Amino acid sequence: MSLVVQKYGGSSVADAEKIKKVAKRVVEAKKRIDHIVVVVSALGDTTDELLSLARQVSSSPPEREMDMLLSTGEQVSMALLAMALNELGQEAISMTGQQVEILTDAGHTRARIRHIGAERVIRELRRGRVVVVAGFQGVTTDGEITTLGRGGSDTTAVALAAALHADYCEIYTDVDGVFTADPRLVSNARKLDRVSYMEMLEMAATGAKVLQARSVEYARKYGVRLYVRSSFHEGEGTWVVSEDEIMEKPIVSAVTHDFSEAKITVKGLPDKPGVAAQLFGTLAEANINVDMIIQNVSENALADISFTVGQEDLAKAKEVTLKIANQLGAEDCRFDENIAKVSLIGAGMRSHPGVAASMFNALADKGINIEMISTSPIKISCVVRKEEGEKAVKALHEHFGLSSEANG
Ligand code: ASP
Ligand code: MG
Repeated sequence: MSLVVQKYGGSSVADAEKIKKVAKRVVEAKKRIDHIVVVVSALGDTTDELLSLARQVSSSPPEREMDMLLSTGEQVSMALLAMALNELGQEAISMTGQQVEILTDAGHTRARIRHIGAERVIRELRRGRVVVVAGFQGVTTDGEITTLGRGGSDTTAVALAAALHADYCEIYTDVDGVFTADPRLVSNARKLDRVSYMEMLEMAATGAKVLQARSVEYARKYGVRLYVRSSFHEGEGTWVVSEDEIMEKPIVSAVTHDFSEAKITVKGLPDKPGVAAQLFGTLAEANINVDMIIQNVSENALADISFTVGQEDLAKAKEVTLKIANQLGAEDCRFDENIAKVSLIGAGMRSHPGVAASMFNALADKGINIEMISTSPIKISCVVRKEEGEKAVKALHEHFGLSSEANG
């Protein structure tokens, strides 16, 4: 018996016409596949609109109420899609996260899935129905509604695929798949046929928007094969699978970018144990995600620490950093929103020395100055001036021969 989970993103179900198209596509797929579970996002920009409504009535909306509000978006699309399917003669039933028993922790607005019951889903599938599940939402053991963080429908889909032992999980979206770089920046970017979980995780963490990072973590942990493809045409997409499934490992698979971070520099901190722990401990307590960190030690037992945070956290990070820098007797703090992070991702890097040097050379050739560097076994990230970000992405894409032309 074949079982596939399909997930349709907000732009794929943006209006009635698009929902009808999705319904047709599901009916087509049902001819080949025995059981189909469909996970839907909220229509178009609904989630953003709901967020904006909340901000209009409250400066700091309680997170519980935020989840009550945001979870309504997916409830609209699931019901509409189930109606459209029934209209085409395909029996279908929609279900909320609670009805599916998607149990999460109590971390409102960014809850994590703990367990999926899914008995009812299985019963409905056995009756020949397509089950349409609201993405992005779950429920705590106390019966409180939660949401899984922006882009969380991806995680709903992957988690359901794991719980149901689906053959694979299809992610239908408004792009054709996973590319060697953002095609809006690099016109000759190439669609990848396959990419490994680890590469996809690094790509998501360094700015690629196509999948929620948490969904990739989940897929990797449970070995769920993902297929990212366009909901607007039948063309091939990109498989996200385990590394063993990829025969030929390119040294560099993709260039990603993130223009949404800010850099904070604390100058003249005492160079002694516990300073970094105190600074980053306080930032963590304030729930601020820190990305890159570098420290330089100067001669007179003073250190400079630079780190990056998301621009959305900058105001809060500023406040926390100034306070703690003052307590620690730092000389100065600087805040800089004019940065871009560009990254190279590739599983083949692990066994190829010299990739970093080659990357720095490519940037130097274009006269681009590097301000921060961080690496993992399969990633190298550099922070550069924001106005040079696009040039840097293009230069690296070209230098490492990632374009469609270069690959014939
Ligand atoms: N509707 C939610 C969001 O926009 C969840 C999702 O689309 O995956 O973030
Ligand atoms: Mg959405």
